Amino acid sequence: MAKDVRDFVRTRADGRCEYCRLPETADEWPFHLEHIVSRQHGGDSEPENLCWACSRCNLNKGPNLGSIDPTSGDSVLLFHPRRQIWADHFQYGDGRIVGTTPIGRATARLLGMNTSSRIELRRRLSELGEL
Ligand SMILES: [Zn+2]
Repeated sequence: MAKDVRDFVRTRADGRCEYCRLPETADEWPFHLEHIVSRQHGGDSEPENLCWACSRCNLNKGPNLGSIDPTSGDSVLLFHPRRQIWADHFQYGDGRIVGTTPIGRATARLLGMNTSSRIELRRRLSELGEL
């Protein structure tokens, strides 16, 4: 991937994961340039199909385009950072990211956004005013 595309996507995201909103400065692992629609499913490498993602979100998402809403059991598409607004699908509170829609719930669960280590990290960042 060209460095200028990588820098553009990173800057557009303000250095935060576009799924879980973690600042890259707070993570122990480098962030990834993520294909929202994976190449396996025909996604290209244009900026409109790319987002900045922490390694945990990227690796848990893998090539998935959808998952199951844990509340309804329905199959739904995952959150799309270019086409949807984060606050329309998620809420943040006390270290947790809560899905407020079927898309938000399915994405938060599949990407493992609320592991105990992530909740603890978000609480610490929140106390420092960095989240
Ligand atoms: Zn993330």
